Amino acid sequence: MTATLLDGKALAETVRAEVRTGVEAFTQTHKRPPGLDVVLVGDNAASRIYTRNKEKASKEVGMRGRLHTLAETTSQDELLALLALLANDPEVDGILVQLPLPPHLAADRVLDAVPPEKDVDGFHPVNVGLLALGRPALVPCTPLGCMRLLAQSGTRLRGARAVVIGRSTIVGKPMAQLLLAEHATVTIAHSRTQDLPALCREADVLVAAIGKAEMVRGDWIKPGATVLDVGINRVTTSEGKSKLVGDVCFDEVKERAGLLSPVPGGVGPMTIACLLQNTLTAARRRLER
Ligand code: NAD
Repeated sequence: MTATLLDGKALAETVRAEVRTGVEAFTQTHKRPPGLDVVLVGDNAASRIYTRNKEKASKEVGMRGRLHTLAETTSQDELLALLALLANDPEVDGILVQLPLPPHLAADRVLDAVPPEKDVDGFHPVNVGLLALGRPALVPCTPLGCMRLLAQSGTRLRGARAVVIGRSTIVGKPMAQLLLAEHATVTIAHSRTQDLPALCREADVLVAAIGKAEMVRGDWIKPGATVLDVGINRVTTSEGKSKLVGDVCFDEVKERAGLLSPVPGGVGPMTIACLLQNTLTAARRRLER
């Protein structure tokens, strides 16, 4: 068997087109576009690229995107003061603080300062709680993108056995909550799980969010399973070239899985598309409350 690949790039384009249409309607009704404010503290090279891409993507769908770049030495009080300004600005619909923050800043206190209704990353305790309760919430973008990929693929979730490898608050835990809400029977595996390969072999749906290059092997996969590879790992090939690989050993797993998301081009592109969707959702909910 060779797996059918889940095309996240194409689906992300569809989501962006939906958001663009929604943004046009919002702008007509409210006489202003939805606004996304992205906050970057420090000089992390990857974060600089991510935040620029988010700002650019928001503008491409017609939003007012703004990037606030603060020095590495910014104090907690200075950052909280900016967040208070954005929290009270009626034209700011979404606020995103790029992680990781420099070590002298307390990420929890900073994330708590983003009002839940503008928390387009879905990291505020209120949104985490609402998701756990199965009530409408702003949901973290990567798991939201995974769910959209699953829906598009036609994978049956009701009654399915799902295994999520990884228990981060950004991917693993919210992913498990979303699968549970769709009536899958969900197991969360992590670094201390015993006999991970055997557990994975039971999975109709396997989500790998580990951060370890090509860890999930072909013989861990139940034949025909749907496999979502969230991992993004940069490795050096035997020819000395740098390339991106997932947490799944693609060449082996594609021979056993029914559906498989590739890296790159699978889950990755869905994340920014879902950030745009969350921003539109946040804008609509605030103004239509
Ligand atoms: P994290 O480091 O916060 O969490 C990793 C999880 O993997 C932990 O819960 C840990 O218990 C588990 N783990 C580690 N080693 C393990 C092992 N040997 N066996 C089983 N479980 C193990 O990482 P994260 O933020 O959740 O990200 C995970 C991966 O997803 C990374 O590669 C990251 O780059 C990628 N990611 C991609 C996107 C995207 O847009 N596609 C978004 C976020 C994260």
